[in-house]
Amino acid sequence: MTRTSPPLHVVWFKRDLRVHDHVPLAEAAARGPVLALYIAEPGFWALPDSSGRQWRFVAEGLTELDAELRARGGGLVVRTGDAVEVLRDVLDRMPVAALWSHQETGNAWTYARDRRVAELLRERGVAWHERRQHGVIRGLTRRDGWAARWEKLMRAPVAEAPAALNPPVLDGAAIPSAAALGLADDPPQRQPGGRDAGLDLLTGFVGPRGRDYRRAMATPVEAFDACSRLSPHLAWGTLSLREVYQRSRAELAAHDGPDGDRTQAQSLVSFRSRLHWHCHFIQKLESQPSIEFTHFHRAYDRLDRDADPAKLEAFAEGRTGYPFVDACLRALAAHGWINFRVRAMLVSFASYHLWLDWRATGPLLARWFTDFEPGIHWSQMQMQSGTTGINTVRIYSPIKQSRDLDPHGVFIRRWVPELAGLAAKALHEPWKSGAAAGLDYPPPVVDHASAVRSARDRIFAVRIGAGYGEEADTVQARHGSRRSGLPRTGRGPRGRADAKQRRESRQLGLEL
Ligand SMILES: Cc1cc2nc3c(=O)[nH]c(=O)nc-3n(C[C@H](O)[C@H](O)[C@H](O)COP(=O)(O)OP(=O)(O)OC[C@H]3O[C@@H](n4cnc5c(N)ncnc54)[C@H](O)[C@@H]3O)c2cc1C
Repeated sequence: MTRTSPPLHVVWFKRDLRVHDHVPLAEAAARGPVLALYIAEPGFWALPDSSGRQWRFVAEGLTELDAELRARGGGLVVRTGDAVEVLRDVLDRMPVAALWSHQETGNAWTYARDRRVAELLRERGVAWHERRQHGVIRGLTRRDGWAARWEKLMRAPVAEAPAALNPPVLDGAAIPSAAALGLADDPPQRQPGGRDAGLDLLTGFVGPRGRDYRRAMATPVEAFDACSRLSPHLAWGTLSLREVYQRSRAELAAHDGPDGDRTQAQSLVSFRSRLHWHCHFIQKLESQPSIEFTHFHRAYDRLDRDADPAKLEAFAEGRTGYPFVDACLRALAAHGWINFRVRAMLVSFASYHLWLDWRATGPLLARWFTDFEPGIHWSQMQMQSGTTGINTVRIYSPIKQSRDLDPHGVFIRRWVPELAGLAAKALHEPWKSGAAAGLDYPPPVVDHASAVRSARDRIFAVRIGAGYGEEADTVQARHGSRRSGLPRTGRGPRGRADAKQRRESRQLGLEL
């Protein structure tokens, strides 16, 4: 490429590793030659919430993205380095018409990086076109009308992948290994990355695999198969939220008539509401980036959380002495995924029973999650720690959850083999009968009843403080949803499906 060639449209792939329904790519390709660029940023991958499992999932997505681009005559240019330096190098080497990307609602690091990129482009007089891929709205001051706008975006036609692309005009390097980025761990049972794997999951889930989703999603015994498992694909963009939404909507239409499968339809309705929550939670971080570090409701700054390294270590190692908690922690560490109810219970246990700060446990959990999505993660960390000021304080009993979700101890035996020989009735509280005596399994790190009492007292002492309600109103005005925006099932104005959905939403603190 020479300085007299037509200027390039640089498409910067971030958390959107696909060519299908990729609006920036489609728009750029319609205007001229494209440079498809991915920047592996060592600074990002060194963050405390980044991990090897996330990178490897991304790397698998990049390999397939490159193949998709090649199939159209193009190819992916991968560069490793600081984004500003890489982009500066591109701008120095060739004429660039514009930079194209999706809007990113990331953590403080990516926000600062994007500001530096914007500054560079301003200096060079190059436009940066950022397009929405989620229902998140930049610069939003109030939530009114948000749900309707979400629906409109999700129902808009998907962007066609460009039929033909120009060959890459720059040399790229190989996709760096995890080791080259200083990343080591990768759990043996992590789910595979790449669009093909995502499409297989989607097809299976909107078909028979997802039929029992609604009934089985809470228990880790069944959730690994019953849930969609699409979260890492949505987090890293190997599938677009819109295509997932539209596929589930089409399947729902097929099941929503008198001859349809009502169970499947209800599961699809529940699933679709979660796609809505995806953006609802990311919007909170977009509107208030500080929630990565500070409480939604600042009265909780007064809480004197424990910085006890022994408790944090017990949590990190899955040796808290609560068998179900430990089984869930170990399963998460090994798979890079666990279902919503368990995530909520684990954070509740860490923040209330162990009285640990969510800012200490948050990065640990984020690294474990292949699907780490900052907006959902930090909102949920605070919600399950009782610090939003607008949600019900829900302290899960790890013993009740154990009995309810794993009554026969199947999951506990699989993940806590130290206790595999115990009878089911002893598994939930082995310390009571002394059944674990002599086994290599610790006693409970805290006493359940007294830990809960103490946590409740401390949380409620904050809630009765002066001015608490006023600030909670401010948080609600900024972050609370106005109405569900969820379309009805077609089974009457307020079908049973809707009622359950509303109940689920309320439990999640979505004020419908
Ligand atoms: C403390 C905590 C941290 C979490 N961190 C993350 C995270 O980093 N990344 C992430 O994707 N999800 C996170 N979640 C939400 C939820 O647990 C996962 O989205 C879900 O378990 C992913 O599995 P799935 O794809 O099979 O979900 P499904 O139940 O099949 O749902 C489909 C999709 O809807 C979205 N979704 C589902 N539940 C929620 C929810 N409660 N809030 C927002 N969106 C939702 C996800 O994109 C998910 O892929 C977190 C939840 C908690 C309690």
